[in-house]
Amino acid sequence: MATVERFTPPSTTHEVTNQPPPLIGHNAFDADPALQEALVREGGAWGVDRARELGELVASAEADEHRRRAQRNVPILRTHDRFGHRIDEVEYDPSMHWMLRAGIEREVNSLGWRETRPAAHVVRYALFYLFNQLDTGPCCPFSINYAAVPTIRQDPVLAAQWEPRLALPDYQRFAQAGMVMTEKQGGSDLRANSTVATPAGDGWYELTGHKWFCTHPVFDMFFTLGQTEAGITCFVAERPHPGFRLQRLKDKLGGRCLASSEVEFDHLPARILGEEGRGTKYMIEQIIWTRLDTLAGVAGMMRRLVSEAVWHCRHRTAFGAPLAEQPAMQNVLADLAVESEAAMALTLRLARAFDATDDQRETAFRRLGLAVAKYWVCKRGAPLAAEALECLGGNGYIETMESPVSQFYRDIQIGTVWEGSGNVIALDVLRAIARNRESVEAFLTECELAAGADPRLDDHLRAVRRGLDHLGTAVNPEWIARAVVEDMALALQASLLVRHSPTSVADAACARLAARRRAFGTLPSGIDATAIVDRSLAA
Ligand SMILES: Cc1cc2nc3c(=O)[nH]c(=O)nc-3n(C[C@H](O)[C@H](O)[C@H](O)COP(=O)(O)OP(=O)(O)OC[C@H]3O[C@@H](n4cnc5c(N)ncnc54)[C@H](O)[C@@H]3O)c2cc1C
Repeated sequence: MATVERFTPPSTTHEVTNQPPPLIGHNAFDADPALQEALVREGGAWGVDRARELGELVASAEADEHRRRAQRNVPILRTHDRFGHRIDEVEYDPSMHWMLRAGIEREVNSLGWRETRPAAHVVRYALFYLFNQLDTGPCCPFSINYAAVPTIRQDPVLAAQWEPRLALPDYQRFAQAGMVMTEKQGGSDLRANSTVATPAGDGWYELTGHKWFCTHPVFDMFFTLGQTEAGITCFVAERPHPGFRLQRLKDKLGGRCLASSEVEFDHLPARILGEEGRGTKYMIEQIIWTRLDTLAGVAGMMRRLVSEAVWHCRHRTAFGAPLAEQPAMQNVLADLAVESEAAMALTLRLARAFDATDDQRETAFRRLGLAVAKYWVCKRGAPLAAEALECLGGNGYIETMESPVSQFYRDIQIGTVWEGSGNVIALDVLRAIARNRESVEAFLTECELAAGADPRLDDHLRAVRRGLDHLGTAVNPEWIARAVVEDMALALQASLLVRHSPTSVADAACARLAARRRAFGTLPSGIDATAIVDRSLAA
């Protein structure tokens, strides 16, 4: 692809000064010491070279041109060909295809299911975290395919048909999966689905109804839900098919390079996955993995935003000194960097728990840990984006040349809605606490691995235990659900940072716990902000 020349014509009125250069042409992996440490710590040392190769790509000028072009040339719905035949296709800009191909060929959508070495999920989540620093749009289809493999494995016949292609790192021949569940009357409450499934003989059904959200509707196969006489049931259907009709594309806040659509099913052939009437049970496998992806994706976007903020402040001078050397800004940048490192550390720690399939304690830990982490990291995404944007001043607010900061500010909000919005996740955590005592113990044991290292963390850990005890007798547990989940997430993040990060980062994490302030830039005196900010971007 021809690159757009970036040249500055001579100005006749003034010289352009004090405008930072774009943060392009470094290596996003080499610039991130915290990621390098976490990848090795969680068992993924063999993936360092892959992560470095992808780190080079996602921060390259070529990738940035594709990101910008795919953002500008948004997907176009093609319901009919020029002769009036229905085709129900979406046309993507070649730059979107470039990004999709780049991820698929690097197994960003499949590595954990293809690789036999230990910590394959850890390595894959490091790659996914890096790819989200380029653009989260293509990462959504990667994520759906990653989750499709364990979901389809619940039916050996369907798995034999689809798994080899779902996990194929070949952009021409692989099969893209979709997940199409949400209807107009309810997304979180999937039991409210009204799509009807009628038997058509030979184990086949026909689906008739609609879906209100259907992302990347160019897939080869998809999971969906419909009502049979036995109740809500999970189905696998294929497209293209005349019974699968795209109504329109969504005009979205973010993720603009990626199509999300509304769709109607008209006697669309489908086969049951799993047991009739127990559809939500079979979709849980999909939801677990896409939740982990949402967590990793938001952590990746946070990382890009913090990098942009630090870079800008290092290169921008105000009132006689670089912004990054001025105390009020150092407080903000250090606080943002700690938030971002905590999100990444949590992601890779959870990925390790997903690798340890034979370890009961890890299974118990991840059951609760994933929901807690997804809730909190996604909740923190939008405030972090807002603060990072502010660090760039007016430039942060501007869309000109498709600035990554304003794009990521919009994109990051998807994490709060996709795969469980805040309340839905917080209520999931309450249910997990009530049903799985061993998960609560595994979660607390993990947090308490840092006990004794810092009195502020010890106080917080005691408060978390009290909060969990109090839940059992609370008159209205749902009322306090978010508070409980937030405290649990902060405990786990601080525990990870205290155990694994440099003293400067660990100290700031514990100081934040004690101060209980949530606005960025409110770290107390004595924090080594210079060390934190230096560590945050080695570029
Ligand atoms: C860009 C984008 C792409 C999407 N792509 C897809 C896709 O490909 N396939 C698909 O199936 N779906 C997709 N979705 C839909 C998404 O999964 C749903 O929007 C999400 O599940 C929430 O459902 P809802 O919109 O019906 O909101 P609701 O379920 O109506 O929720 C609204 C609010 O109520 C809260 N709430 C719900 N229940 C409770 C309760 N019991 N107590 C307290 N509060 C509650 C929720 O937390 C939320 O804040 C997409 C959405 C977006 C924005």
